[in-house]
Amino acid sequence: MRISAKNASQPLLLANIGVLLTLRSSHPGPRRGAVLQELNILQDAAVFCLGGKIVSVGKTKDALRDPWIKKNHHKITEIDCTGKVVLPGFVDAHTHPAFVVPRLLDFEKRTAGATYEEIAEAGGGIRSSVQAVREADKKLLNGKILKALWAMSAQGTTTVEAKSGYGLSLDSEIMSLEAIHDAAANWPGTVVPTLLGAHVVPMEYKKNPQKYVDLVCKQMVPLAAKRKLAKFVDVFCDKGAFTAEDTERIFEAATAHGLAVRAHVCQLTETVLGPLLRFHPLSFDHMDHVNEDDIPQLAKRNTVATLVPGANYFLGLEKYPPARKLIDAGIPVAIATDYNPGSSPTSSMPLVLSLACTHMKMSPAESIAAATINGAWSLGLAERKGSIEPGKDADLAIFDVKDYREIPYWFGNDHCEATVLNGIIMMTTENSPARI
Ligand SMILES: [Zn+2]
Repeated sequence: MRISAKNASQPLLLANIGVLLTLRSSHPGPRRGAVLQELNILQDAAVFCLGGKIVSVGKTKDALRDPWIKKNHHKITEIDCTGKVVLPGFVDAHTHPAFVVPRLLDFEKRTAGATYEEIAEAGGGIRSSVQAVREADKKLLNGKILKALWAMSAQGTTTVEAKSGYGLSLDSEIMSLEAIHDAAANWPGTVVPTLLGAHVVPMEYKKNPQKYVDLVCKQMVPLAAKRKLAKFVDVFCDKGAFTAEDTERIFEAATAHGLAVRAHVCQLTETVLGPLLRFHPLSFDHMDHVNEDDIPQLAKRNTVATLVPGANYFLGLEKYPPARKLIDAGIPVAIATDYNPGSSPTSSMPLVLSLACTHMKMSPAESIAAATINGAWSLGLAERKGSIEPGKDADLAIFDVKDYREIPYWFGNDHCEATVLNGIIMMTTENSPARI
């Protein structure tokens, strides 16, 4: 892979686009119900970007007639997208990149039949990643995160939500957020940092989990907010992690310090969601076991259900999140990788789109909207990200396929040819289509 243009202010024209998925919509709010299918497709299209923003979207012949483009043609980087699909860069709204080593022992144990809970009980799971992060220096962690971000953008992702959560002490959680911040500064895409101090109760607080909740509320949240190291506070609210009462306390602290909230819920059991709604979470993530009574309430709100089927795949589960039921009930649905060392070590959004279609019965069009505009809504970034419209950030993915349905169809294959991140072009193949 290589970066072709270092300067985001450089004018950029994507021309002769075979199929352009703009994802424009006149419906306000996150896409729900039948609107999730609407990709708003243009053919023979062009997208012109300047200063890291999209300036115009339309037909190639109109773009080539534009007086400014005609006059400045020699200054413009042009990418010929004949026979290709261009769509908004993926918004991966749920990742855990702040870890050091893969969890190969857990993986092997699972092949021998151990469950997620059994592995956690035996000292594996999230806790086993903690020691390596506590011992790591920030530079090492920063390098691991940056490598993951490049791998993501090579597969079409331009915006990434990145959580801490493998430090589980004040120093290590803050160091993890700093490492996310440093990696983000060296990657041309957009990173949204999240404090996940409440990932699991660390071993030294096992006998007194309330003391750990105190630490999260009274020290981690205030310091992360004061140093502007996080936009969101996340809590793993489920069996074996944190209770609804703990989550409410942590959300109260987050709100008091001006941070937005999101939560891991309903992965292992039915989390009671009602009491959490007063905090206006932008996202409830996982949602494998949703209580029927919560569905009508959620359908009236803009809280996005961010589904992460990579975890179900990697844990070898038969059941997947009930995407069809949620979409048909009118709940906005996003999909994300859940990139993490224990349950979903993939940086590939195209693979997640494929899982959404094959195991959750989402249509290819729904999977694309869930991976772009609804991901942007779940991060509070829909004004800037997730669709190709004038004024939005120049975040684009170019796929070397003729039909957008090929993106989830060719599972495990990478057809992303180039990514544009805030106006900067990243080529992922050697036969570069750019003419600079
Ligand atoms: Zn997660």
